[in-house]
Amino acid sequence: MVKDALANSIELDGTDTFTKASFGITMFPEDSSDPDVLLKNADMALYHAKNAGRGRFAFYNSDLNAQAIRRKDLATKLRMAVTDDIGLHLKYQPKVDIVQGEVVGVEALLRWSHETYGEISPVEFIPIAETSGLIVEIGDWVLRKSCEQILKWQTSGLPPVPIALNLSAVQFKRTDLVEAVGKLMGEFQIEPSWLELEITESTIMDYVEETVAALYGLHDIGVSLAIDDFGTGHSSLAYLKRFPMDKLKIDRSFVNDVVDDADDAAIKQIIINLAKQLNLSVIAEGVENVPQLEFLRQNGCAVVQGYHFASPIDPMAFVDLYVEKKCAPGALKTPR
Ligand code: C2E
Ligand code: CA
Ligand code: CA
Repeated sequence: MVKDALANSIELDGTDTFTKASFGITMFPEDSSDPDVLLKNADMALYHAKNAGRGRFAFYNSDLNAQAIRRKDLATKLRMAVTDDIGLHLKYQPKVDIVQGEVVGVEALLRWSHETYGEISPVEFIPIAETSGLIVEIGDWVLRKSCEQILKWQTSGLPPVPIALNLSAVQFKRTDLVEAVGKLMGEFQIEPSWLELEITESTIMDYVEETVAALYGLHDIGVSLAIDDFGTGHSSLAYLKRFPMDKLKIDRSFVNDVVDDADDAAIKQIIINLAKQLNLSVIAEGVENVPQLEFLRQNGCAVVQGYHFASPIDPMAFVDLYVEKKCAPGALKTPR
C-alpha cells in the first residue's frame, strides 16, 4: 500500500529520513461523478484524517460536508470575534505545589462565547484558527491579555502570579515571535519568570529547525518553556536534549488510569524519573481525585493541575481563591 511504501526510510545526505502521509479518499461514482466534487470530497476526508492524527486515511461521507460547512462558518465568525474583540476571554487554571500547599501559577485557557453558537470549545476552534492562520493574531491577543492580567492581579494586592500560555506550531512559523514576546514583556514590565510557554510534543516534532531557533531565542530572554501533553507524541531522548526546555507536563491520559492501570503507572514513574534526570520539573495535568494525587505525591511529582483543585476560572474568582487559600483539595468546585 502507498502508506506503507512511504513509511520506509529515505536516505538524504547520508541520513535516514522518515516521512508520513495522510490520505483523503472518495469513491467514484458512489460519492459523485463530477471531478471537482470528488476533489473537494477527498480534501474534506484528508482534513478529517489529519485531524484524527498524522499518518492516517479517512473516507469521505456526507457528515463531513456538514462539518466542513460549520468549520467555514466558525472561521468567518472567529475572524470577526478577533477583529472586534468580542466573545473571546481567558480563564485561568491554578497549578498547585502539593508539597508547599500553595498556588505556584496558572495556565491561561482561551474561551469563545458566540451569541448564536454559545460556548465553543477550544478543542474545536483552535484547529480552525490554526488552519486559517488566525492563530497568530489570537496568540498575540492571548499574550497581551495575559501580560495585562499579571499586572491587574498585582494591583489587587496579589504577588506576581506566573502565567503559562499555550503556543501552536503555526506561531513558530512567524520569524518575529521572540521579538514580539520580548516587546510585550518590555511594554508591561513583565519579569521573564512570570511568563511560561507551553509547547506540545507534536509542535516540537513538526517544525524542527524553526522551532529550535525560536525556543532558544525565548529561552535567552528568560521565558520558561514547558513541553505540553508529554507522552502522547513520539519524543525521543535525543530530541528532548536538543531543546532548552525547563518543564514537562505529563498528559492527563496517563494521570486518568494511573490507579487501575499498572502500565500507565509504570509509564508515569518513568516520565517523572526521566524528567529528574534531564533536570526538568514535572507538572501532572488532569488530576481529578485523591488516589491520583497520592500516586503523584509518592512518586515525587510536586506540582499538579486539575479539577480536583480547581477548574479554569475567571480572574476575579482566582483572586478569591488565592486570598482565601481555598485551593485545598475539594474546596473549590466550580462549574467547568
Ligand atoms: P491543554 O493545553 O492540554 O489544556 C488542558 C485542558 O484540560 C484544558 O481544556 C482544561 O480545561 C482541561 N482540564 C484541566 N483540568 C482537567 C481535569 O482535571 N480533567 C479533565 N478531563 N480536563 C481537565 P480546554 O480549556 O478545553 O483546552 C483544550 C485545549 O485547547 C488545550 O489543551 C490547548 O491545547 C488548547 N488551547 C486552549 N487555549 C489555548 C490558547 O490560548 N492557545 C492555543 N494555541 N491553544 C489553546
Ligand atoms: Ca497546555
Ligand atoms: Ca496539556
